[in-house]
Amino acid sequence: MSQTVLTASWAAAPDAAGSGVPAGGAWAARIPPLAPGVFRVRPLLFEATASYLQRLAGAYRLTLPQLLDGSGITVHGHGTSPAAGLCLTPGAAHRIAVLGRIPLAHLTRALPHLTHHRRSGPGPAAAYWKPLEAEHQPVAACALCTWHHSRGVTGMAWVHRPWHRLVCPRHQQAAPGPRLTSTLHTWAVPELITAHHAHQRLKRHPQAASAWMTARAVTTRWYDHQQHLTGRWQHRLGRLVAGNTHLGRAGTASAVLLARDLVTYPETVALARTLATLPHTRRTRTGDLLGVIAHRLKLDTLTPTTSDPLTVYLTHARP
Ligand SMILES: [Zn+2]
Repeated sequence: MSQTVLTASWAAAPDAAGSGVPAGGAWAARIPPLAPGVFRVRPLLFEATASYLQRLAGAYRLTLPQLLDGSGITVHGHGTSPAAGLCLTPGAAHRIAVLGRIPLAHLTRALPHLTHHRRSGPGPAAAYWKPLEAEHQPVAACALCTWHHSRGVTGMAWVHRPWHRLVCPRHQQAAPGPRLTSTLHTWAVPELITAHHAHQRLKRHPQAASAWMTARAVTTRWYDHQQHLTGRWQHRLGRLVAGNTHLGRAGTASAVLLARDLVTYPETVALARTLATLPHTRRTRTGDLLGVIAHRLKLDTLTPTTSDPLTVYLTHARP
């Protein structure tokens, strides 16, 4: 699409002055197609594509549809973060990389879902909104990291957080789930940062991912059924809520559920590290293993029932 066509389409666009954004003709000239943008906007690691585009648009004081239209990118469907994700064709990704002044290879590494296929070359420039299942939705990024990457324009961004990055250790912020539109401060719970560093060491273990999945399933069940660690977790939740008043106002979900992954995090990491390093021989008695796990969880005793997910794992599922 040529500059002339782009300019013509902007001129024909409805006057957006009433919605707080400049009229078409005024903002059209700000983004020459396939010319390096005025502003360099760095992506956050693991950032959702729609989030990066929103921040790029914000640098130019445009809306996301205006940015895509001005870049010659055709949009299909509708959506917003975090309930929906935006996927670009390679041609569109190329345009965005040029506009954001970020090498395409760098942008592709930072945004895990930038394009939906690997075909190279410019091709048609299009973007597709797709609804995301809850477990695949991005979560709010650390606001201070986002400010830093946005030149102070915004502190709001969404990231597809990997399993080993629950907390920003530098700024002590975390968003345990997509229902929280702003992060929680974790200063009052310093054991979360200790757990974060232990988690990074766990990540290097070959059994880390499977041990983490098992441990998370176990602590989630214990938390929901108020077993074994309830007193400790209630105390930790109280400290989190006291430092984050918005936690009690986040929609219809309760703070108990919204903060679950964060509240259980230290024990989930400790349990995962223990499971990853358990003796491989099956001759080790389950009672002895439970003694080791209790010690690592700083519990005097641990006596789960036969239907407890930890017992089931130790007796039946352990490799
Ligand atoms: Zn941060």
